[in-house]
Formats: sequence, C-alpha cells, structure tokens
Amino acid sequence: MTDGRTLARTYLEQQRVLGGNSVILPTATVGPSDRPADSFPPPGLSFDPPSSDLFAADPIQQTRTLADVAALIAPCIRCKLCEGRTRTVPGEGPADARLIVVGEGPGKTEDATGRPFVGRAGELLTKILGAIALPREQVYICNVVKCRPPDNRLPQYDEIAACVPYLYRQIELVKPKAILAMGGTAAQTLLNTKQSLGALRNQVHRFRGVPLIVTYHPAALLRNPNWKRPTWDDVRIVRRLLDR
Ligand code: SF4
Repeated sequence: MTDGRTLARTYLEQQRVLGGNSVILPTATVGPSDRPADSFPPPGLSFDPPSSDLFAADPIQQTRTLADVAALIAPCIRCKLCEGRTRTVPGEGPADARLIVVGEGPGKTEDATGRPFVGRAGELLTKILGAIALPREQVYICNVVKCRPPDNRLPQYDEIAACVPYLYRQIELVKPKAILAMGGTAAQTLLNTKQSLGALRNQVHRFRGVPLIVTYHPAALLRNPNWKRPTWDDVRIVRRLLDR
C-alpha cells in the first residue's frame, strides 16, 4: 500500500515538474481489509480484468485453416438442421481463392455428397463462372447454412444465426477479392438487410471491406430463364472487380 509520505513526495515532485498547476496522484491499492462491506467483487473473488482477446474461447475464431472450420462443422449440433442431415456441406475450393460464391443451403444432392452446388444448379453455376473465364476450381464455394433444411425450405432465422459464424470465418480465412452472394438468403445475411434481391443487385456492396455483388441463385435461374440476362450483367461486374 502506498503510504502518506510517498504520496506527499510524489505530489511535490509533480508540482515541480508541472509548474504547480496540475497534479496526478497514484491510485492507492485497496487491500481486502480496506474494502467496504458492500464493495464489488465480494471479498475472496478475483477481480482479474477480462482477457484482451475476447474471442480466445471461441473455437470458430481459433480455427486457422478451412479444414479446421470443416472439422468443427462435421459434428455440429448448434441448430435443429443437424437432425435431418446426411452430411454437412462446409464448402470447397482453394484457400487463396479470389472469389467466394455464397449460396443459401445444401439441397438433396449436396446433402448426399457433402459438396456444395452440385446437381443441375451446380452445373449452371459452373457455366456462369466459365462465362467470365473463371474455372470453378479457382473459386471457393459455400452456403450460409451447412446442413440441408428439410424439404428444401428456406433456412430459418435461428438456423442462420447459429451457422453464420462458420461462413464469416471462412471469408476471413480466404480473404477474397470479391464475394458473389447468390440468392436472397445469402445477400440479406451478408448485408444484414431485409431488402429484396431485386433492390440489392446491379451494384457493388461491401462486406467487411470486401466488394460484394448480389445476383440470382442458379436454382432460381433454372425456374425462371428470364433472369439469366440480369445475372450475366451481375457477374460481369464480378469480372471487372477481379480484373482491377
Ligand atoms: S446448419 Fe450450421 S449450425 Fe446448424 S447444425 Fe448444421 S453446421 Fe451446425
């Protein structure tokens, strides 16, 4: 504990240095016996400051590779979608991809294979990427939720909230030059908005500083071929972003 003579000496020294106008007294250490009865924390409990790294205990933030993230996803039971899945679908592609494509969630074929964007919608995605001279193998492809929603329904809010930290970490690890959000769920999740896909497309948004383009999901294009033209306009913006 700082005694009175030490405080007085500090005071006089600071008066000398500061010209007598200001003084900064050291904070006296309060020992357990000095603490008032209603002090907090109660005697005997530690008052250690919180860790400077608030994410130190978060296993998702502790991952260092995409494989680490996939290893966490494989046994995940953070939401009810785990109950009906056959396989988790974490995502696939190179760790240094310049583009990340984000869809909504796995469908039947993805659930069976553990791979994103396979089947007819996946084939169309491969063609869309090829149209801007981007081999699928050079793109990291994943979804907002990593387990199949039953009957291909939209992922619910609580499911997205439980799963989206995996997606955020994947984007952090890949550090892409651009993100292509395909479909309303991906766009609204990443941009934290309820605006319609139509209102969000045909412009460059930002996700944590990374340019983000919104366009239609390939499955929607299969149902409505009229959306192919606007999708082409959107992916040409992606091409320009990657060429910058
Ligand atoms: S959807 Fe995501 S949060 Fe839910 S169980 Fe699957 S991996 Fe976990």
